[in-house]
Amino acid sequence: MTKPSEQTETLAPDSAGLARAAALLRAGRLVAMPTETVYGLAGDARNPDAVARIFAAKGRPAHNPLIVHLANLEAALALADLPETGLRLAAEFWPGPLTLVAPLRAGHGLAPAVTAGLETVALRLPAHPVARALLAEFGGPLAAPSANPSGRISPTTAAHVRAGLSGRIAAVLDGGACAVGLESAIVGFDGPRAVLLRAGGLSREALEAVIGAPLATDTGGKITAPGQLASHYAPRAALRLNVATPNPGEVWIGFGPDCAGADFSLSPTGDLAEAGARLFAVLHQADALGRPIAVAPMPDTGLGASINDRLRRAAAPRR
Ligand code: AMP
Ligand code: MG
Repeated sequence: MTKPSEQTETLAPDSAGLARAAALLRAGRLVAMPTETVYGLAGDARNPDAVARIFAAKGRPAHNPLIVHLANLEAALALADLPETGLRLAAEFWPGPLTLVAPLRAGHGLAPAVTAGLETVALRLPAHPVARALLAEFGGPLAAPSANPSGRISPTTAAHVRAGLSGRIAAVLDGGACAVGLESAIVGFDGPRAVLLRAGGLSREALEAVIGAPLATDTGGKITAPGQLASHYAPRAALRLNVATPNPGEVWIGFGPDCAGADFSLSPTGDLAEAGARLFAVLHQADALGRPIAVAPMPDTGLGASINDRLRRAAAPRR
């Protein structure tokens, strides 16, 4: 990670803030922007210096490619060839919390580091009005991984971004708390077959309903999503999962009505969408208490599967 060396501006999501953010991006600087999933650390995807700054600010390993954010489907199709299934998923879920990985087109113009040298690229049209307004104002593709130091908890508020990256990026556009709160689901293609590369803010069930077939999860190593490391989204404190009765001294994160007495609840009523939206904020708050963390059991269906994926990585032994 680079040392803090600049004054990070906080920008309001109004026309002056958006104009300033777009000007910074055109100058190759980095701006954290709200999206419906988590805050993204945006830089001009065609500018190699800007892309290098993203990796440096986050301390992100160079083999971990970035998602390119676009204003519309036309801009996405100018960069990559989407197979028929991809076009159907895009028609249904874009703009929204879905990333599609597809082969790059010749003349795409992206900085090579964006794709970590791969011949495919990860694309998304975000739904958040501030992200869409910034993409329109900037007028080009924005590479944007989550706006947090690599490996740590993802940011769902501008305050989380500042806590992790203040002094390392030019500005944060403050668009409030993220509504989905989990990173995008990532789907790639093995020939015509759709493969779930990362569970995320759109459930497997919702994707399969549109595809009309089960999503593959394993392609026998034929296509992979680099950077999906076992330890990720990690609080500083140790974390235990599936804990119905916490140990003395543990911070207990509950889910559902059976967790009266929990220090925090992801959703008192057991609503998985609410739990997804609150997950990272609750982990940030629990971590600030400086004690070990225990999390109540979570159903493994719908968004619960994505929440469990993030919790397992948060609990995994550290690199
Ligand atoms: P994020 O860290 O949320 O920005 O998500 C980026 C993730 O998208 C990476 O860690 C990869 O797992 C995945 N990804 C990005 N580009 C590609 C690609 N070309 N092929 C496969 N997976 C990709
Ligand atoms: Mg991330």
